[in-house]
Amino acid sequence: MDLKLKNKVIIVTGGTKGIGEAISREVANEGAVPVFIGRNKENGALLLNDLKKQHKEAHYIQANLNDTKSCKKAVKEVIKKYGRIDGLVNNAGKNDSIGLESGSPETFSKSISNNLNHYYDMAHFCLDALKKTKGSIINISSKTAITGQGGTSGYAAAKGAQLALTREWAVELLKYEIRVNAVIPAEVMTPLYENWLNSFSNPKEKLNAIVEKIPLGKRMTTKEEIASMVLFLLSEKANHITGQHLFVDGGYTHLDRGLS
Ligand code: NAP
Repeated sequence: MDLKLKNKVIIVTGGTKGIGEAISREVANEGAVPVFIGRNKENGALLLNDLKKQHKEAHYIQANLNDTKSCKKAVKEVIKKYGRIDGLVNNAGKNDSIGLESGSPETFSKSISNNLNHYYDMAHFCLDALKKTKGSIINISSKTAITGQGGTSGYAAAKGAQLALTREWAVELLKYEIRVNAVIPAEVMTPLYENWLNSFSNPKEKLNAIVEKIPLGKRMTTKEEIASMVLFLLSEKANHITGQHLFVDGGYTHLDRGLS
């Protein structure tokens, strides 16, 4: 299937590691231009050099998206370099375990703002450019917004708000034919997931217990499977899909847990 994404400029926040890295790589594989934003310069340089070796056009911006001014500056840099933005993938996030019992009003508020505000900020600053290209926005949320996880109030609240904003923006941006969708992963092995797993005393057993509950194939979703959905949604093949919450999770969130 030709997704017709050639030369389109796609911003991927947190696009140097984990799910974001897989999205950036797939964007480049389609002949589009990934602009990946992340804090860690080394990770950014590694990915950029690898793509350049494959003669693929790509750009890395080092930024901490928790700062609104950095979001604005990053978008400005993309426009200056490429003159257009065709897609925004809001992906950067961190399950920071700020619970109801373990957290505080201050840490809760910070966790929400760190996981949520840059989704709004990036969409806001990209809007003029997206209007010109009739571009698309994809918000990467999490199953925690639907199932809960326990011990992570800030992250879960931010992930839920991302789903609400997906519908809200889909409505507001209908008039520009800008489509807005959310992709919802559940269990994907990434650096973030590994860190979370290692917070348990028995990470291996914990992982086995989780994998047992994933109905389709009793396996984790791969980051490439998340990226495939994102690429489809970014493409014109998805031209009549907006305001949707798409679960790419092997049935983890919705299928009967009693299945063996
Ligand atoms: P990851 O391996 O930690 O990668 C996330 C990337 O985002 C990292 O490169 C990180 O940069 C970057 N990032 C985070 N906050 C940032 C900020 N404020 N400014 C700039 N960069 C920032 O995480 P992942 O597992 O791929 O998760 C990606 C998305 O999927 C997240 O939104 C997460 O909530 C969602 N998700 C993942 C899973 C899963 O099973 N993995 C499940 C549900 C939802 P640094 O290197 O600087 O930290």
